[in-house]
Amino acid sequence: MLDSMARNAQGKIALSGLDINELTDFVKAMGLPAFRAKQIHTWIYAKYASSLDEMTDLSVELREKLKEVADVPLLTISHLEVSRDGTRKYLFALPDGQLVESVLIAFEDRPNLSVCVSSQVGCAVGCTFCATGYLGFKRNLTSQEIVDQVMCIQREANLRVANIVYMGQGEPLLNTKNVIDSINTINLSVGIGARHITVSTSGIVPGINELAAANLPITLALSLHAPDADTREEIVPITKKYSIHAVMQAISDYYNTTRRRVTIEYVMLKGVNDSDDQARHLAEMLKDVNCNINLIPFNPTRNNKGEIVYLRPDMKTQKRFAEIAGRTGRTVTIRLERGTDIDAACGQLANKFVQSK
Ligand code: SF4
Repeated sequence: MLDSMARNAQGKIALSGLDINELTDFVKAMGLPAFRAKQIHTWIYAKYASSLDEMTDLSVELREKLKEVADVPLLTISHLEVSRDGTRKYLFALPDGQLVESVLIAFEDRPNLSVCVSSQVGCAVGCTFCATGYLGFKRNLTSQEIVDQVMCIQREANLRVANIVYMGQGEPLLNTKNVIDSINTINLSVGIGARHITVSTSGIVPGINELAAANLPITLALSLHAPDADTREEIVPITKKYSIHAVMQAISDYYNTTRRRVTIEYVMLKGVNDSDDQARHLAEMLKDVNCNINLIPFNPTRNNKGEIVYLRPDMKTQKRFAEIAGRTGRTVTIRLERGTDIDAACGQLANKFVQSK
């Protein structure tokens, strides 16, 4: 049992990111009664303990025994950047040395903090505007690696997070089982309600169906980015495998199963997907879909040749697009920018570090 548990970079079994059943298995394998698992669970998830030494209702002898084989964190903070607006961007080293990033987003006018987590190292989808797409796919994250991103951030910032978005590196629905397991642990152990969790997909039809079957009260966000097949194929190449029609059918089925309104994400790229015609097409296409539309002003990134390929449309164009896209009754919002001074867009920080190696 102990042999199969994930170990951190120091070779110790990592306890953060495990749910109560996994912690119970651990304490039993250590020859301890089950109530010890509850104590450890409380220290990790309610008190943000970062070491076994902090768990003072365990005897010194017991802590020493546990410390021989175990520790709390799984991930290591490799780099941290703090934006002028309070956004904190973390680069985490996984036990095998791979790097992923997560972002803590603080809004001055809102008390709730959000964390954007990664679900894969790199990404196979290859969206042409995305820094992570240039990294290529390396591997899936485990559920524990996803959960410990949230816990590492809460421990480091000593803050309680209220919302989780699966919008960091990777396509969550190409790692659906681990993502669903991590949602359950974030919900039951970390204590964040499923209604405060959003999973964002580029349109992986089998994954959307699998998520619908799990019927979790989370929010599904579809990164649509274009209403027409040609433009979408150009910027989200997975469209060649899962057509817009198939994706929209899966979204409709998802709503019919879960009764949860879907969010349509639309990154705005100057001269590519920001025309009046495309806004009208989008409005028409979504008029019968129970959704709201979130326009994301593009944060320019460099590709692997160091070139800036896409630019952000000016504010006048963004507002006009929003007005037209909303004409069939959908709510359209333009996302507030956060952390632009610290490479806070998906994949930018990890890309910088990978490229500089
Ligand atoms: S935008 Fe998301 S799905 Fe597309 S390449 Fe980047 S990480 Fe992958």
